[in-house]
Amino acid sequence: VAAAETAIHLLRVAHDVVGAHEAELGALDAIAGDGDHGVGMVRGLDAAVTAAERSGAAAGLSAALTAAGEGWAERAGGASGALWGAALAQLGTSLGDHDQYPPALVADAVDAAVERIRALGGAEAGDKTMLDAMAPFAASLRQGIAAGEPVAGALRAAAATATGAAEATAALVPRRGRARPLAERSVGHADPGATSFAMIVDAVAARVE
Ligand code: ADP
Ligand code: MG
Ligand code: MG
Repeated sequence: VAAAETAIHLLRVAHDVVGAHEAELGALDAIAGDGDHGVGMVRGLDAAVTAAERSGAAAGLSAALTAAGEGWAERAGGASGALWGAALAQLGTSLGDHDQYPPALVADAVDAAVERIRALGGAEAGDKTMLDAMAPFAASLRQGIAAGEPVAGALRAAAATATGAAEATAALVPRRGRARPLAERSVGHADPGATSFAMIVDAVAARVE
């Protein structure tokens, strides 16, 4: 119950930070894509929060995250909605329901969620997608946890890694998704999906104790 409550709270945190940057994310997506990344993320997170609340804390963490992922994928539309939805559902399945979550289990679950996105979207490192922020985030989290850091500290360090990695996507040429036809225009600007991911993990890490 406590873990599910935390997850629902953190989904609201994610919703609020993306909402505060909705226009900025849309403008970033408009450079080489279709400009809907901000609206799509807000719509998806709105649905995710609603679905997790409806599932309820009593039903447990796994059910809340699965419901959130399904809600997100259904409502958001777009590539990022399908991928985020599947990743959240995978996170729920991998975390399962426990009284306590050993840090290594958290690292494994985050890896599984990132793998789900890789399998579903078929993107590789350097394709200029959200994966270019997610994979370094997952690797940093795993490293911190393996070094014996508490989850909160490892998460904050991983979020900083994600922020740097998202900024570094500016140098890349997109090889996936809607930004491809106008790929060259995107050079010099960060990938929208990598940017929103970094925003979310940064906000979430700041709230985890
Ligand atoms: P759409 O491109 O359908 O309009 P969004 O604008 O919401 O969806 O999301 C665009 C983001 O989705 C991109 O910036 C990129 O990070 C991510 N993305 C697109 N295609 C893929 C893919 N195949 N694998 C991983 N991420 C992807
Ligand atoms: Mg778009
Ligand atoms: Mg679109």
